Amino acid sequence: MLHCRSGTTGDILRRNRAHGGRVKEDSRVKKDSNGFYSHIRQVHMDFHMPEFPKNAITNFDAKAFVKHLVHGKINMVALFAKCHFGNSFYDTRVGHKHTGLPNDFLREAAEECRKHGIRTLAYYSLSTDKWAYDHYPHWRKVAADGTHPPVNGPWARVCINTPYREELALPQCEEIARDYPVDGFFIDIPLSGRCFCRWCKEKFAVLHGKELTESVPGIEQDAFDYNSTARFLKELRHIINTHNPELKIVTNRGGHLYSPRSFSDCNDFGVWESQPKSNYLSHSFACRAVRTLDMPVQVMSVRFYQGWGDLSLKPTAQMTTEFAAMIGNGCAATSGDQVNVDGTLQPAVYDMFNKSFGFVEAREAILAGAESVKHAAILAPVARYDYPADVAEGPAMQGAHKALLESHVQFDILSALDIDKLDAYKIAVLTEPCSFDPAVFPKLEQWVKKGGTLVAAGSSLIEGGRFHLQEVLGIDFIDPSVFSVSHFKPEPALAGAMDDLPLQCRAKSYKVFCKGADRLARYYYPQTECTPDHAFRNPQCPPANDEPSPYPFATLNTYGKGKAVYIAASIFEAYWRYNHHWLRQFVEAVFKHVDPAPPCRADISGIVETNLMRAANGDLLLNLIHYQVGHQGAREAIPAIESVHPITQIACQVKAAGVKQVRLEPAGTEIAFKQDGDYVAFSVPQIEYLGIVRVVT
Ligand SMILES: [Zn+2]
Repeated sequence: MLHCRSGTTGDILRRNRAHGGRVKEDSRVKKDSNGFYSHIRQVHMDFHMPEFPKNAITNFDAKAFVKHLVHGKINMVALFAKCHFGNSFYDTRVGHKHTGLPNDFLREAAEECRKHGIRTLAYYSLSTDKWAYDHYPHWRKVAADGTHPPVNGPWARVCINTPYREELALPQCEEIARDYPVDGFFIDIPLSGRCFCRWCKEKFAVLHGKELTESVPGIEQDAFDYNSTARFLKELRHIINTHNPELKIVTNRGGHLYSPRSFSDCNDFGVWESQPKSNYLSHSFACRAVRTLDMPVQVMSVRFYQGWGDLSLKPTAQMTTEFAAMIGNGCAATSGDQVNVDGTLQPAVYDMFNKSFGFVEAREAILAGAESVKHAAILAPVARYDYPADVAEGPAMQGAHKALLESHVQFDILSALDIDKLDAYKIAVLTEPCSFDPAVFPKLEQWVKKGGTLVAAGSSLIEGGRFHLQEVLGIDFIDPSVFSVSHFKPEPALAGAMDDLPLQCRAKSYKVFCKGADRLARYYYPQTECTPDHAFRNPQCPPANDEPSPYPFATLNTYGKGKAVYIAASIFEAYWRYNHHWLRQFVEAVFKHVDPAPPCRADISGIVETNLMRAANGDLLLNLIHYQVGHQGAREAIPAIESVHPITQIACQVKAAGVKQVRLEPAGTEIAFKQDGDYVAFSVPQIEYLGIVRVVT
């Protein structure tokens, strides 16, 4: 069981150091002990229910309810104990039970689930409770001007620093922990938002020695908010330890890159809602981040098109594609559903889940215990253990994830708080902005010296008026460029598939001189910097100067046994914003140049994502995740995946010696292979959603 930890970043770093090489084993044991990875077909059952519908919950029947879950092949489900309306769905003595519910939903559903081996979490809406808001005005969240924020539709915020915590929330959690056959808690809406009630002000003054006002920096207010919930979770842990130590704590936002680790560490597993919007990259981004943590995290989608509770139903192909992205990247498959007003479930949803979770079921034994191979890491800008990292999922991070995924780089997204785990990686990528604990820079310097390869872009090392690690990069930083766009031409060794013309990078660039480093690309100024009354043709991007500037666009330096690349522009953010393919091609060319022998290769476009895993028995598993996305409509539409047509004959290579057999799972079909030096080469005959190629050594 994972106990709530506390301490500074330094404490955590020291603790990790003390564990040395045992971190990986600990993490696997910890994950197994949660039962999380043995129950990876998970549904979050939304059940927010007002009291005005005449037929509210009149037809709930536990046996019929759970029969649907069984048909849908679900083996972990969150069941509602209390919803956003503040209505409880069990026989509470301290809260308000929904007036339409004659029976004890939570008990009956949980008991029935247990009979069928389905794990259950009791859902508790923490900071949104309309009933409490209406009946106890002094529990309400208070805005800086002393007013209560207006109710948004049915929702209303209460503050967990008021007596709401002691008089309702914790007593209700104790009822559940003591009396209910569930396996844990799912705490939702964990934050009150920036609150200025008298209790928040009192607590802030005691904890921080100053007055809580609007002039306190927003990030500090948010840290106080998260850490207030962390203190609630510690009290919940105490209740659990008193009544049923087997119960797990699961909190929404736990495990997110942006959530303070001080908050995430109070959980047994976390929740990262990653519903696709304009693209399907969000599950991969979340999975690649959370799989580096010592606790599992639900990477969660929904069966609805446009968001929670709209009661639309995605087609099987769409949900299966999303599940393939989750399990192919080493996570569980999780989706949200919604109960009908009368307390029943929609059979069509469980017919769809039967197929999509059936797809997961057929592959889970193959992926059980497998770990993604560590090779490259995008180092996420996270500065403090007890603060949110509001820049860690920004456009530069998203662009780096997209570019590396489409270039089939084997990579994770590693929080800078976990810098001590960097020794397991060969390549580190720094995006923007520069928001790291100071301990990160000397660690990176030593890591490169010992043989690591650093790839830094734009302002990723510029902080507080200085440019860190210039000696490692072999450059002399001058200035941020005055121009808002730049052009570049790669040196012949990196030209690759790029067209032979000045290539745009519509982003900030930086002027540096080589000081030992070699130039990988030349930097061209634009003809002018455009302003409203001074422009040249295209107002955003004037043509390049004929002659290159004195500065490089990218450099490569040798430092100790390692290498360091600097790309002197915000290339990842530009790629995210504009999708200019030559930016990805340049990133790919840089990787091929500095990493000529990667763990795997796939001769296929970025429509297929690769992830190489090491199975529990030592075999290598090359996962090929296929996104066959339909046309994008209006911005608010999500690209449809109504059907997926298989793709065939994908040429792949995996770095492995002494290979005995290559086969396509789960069918176990043998694939012809050829040992070519350090690599085994083969052609995958066909994949639909997810090809899992087992390389037996
Ligand atoms: Zn408050």
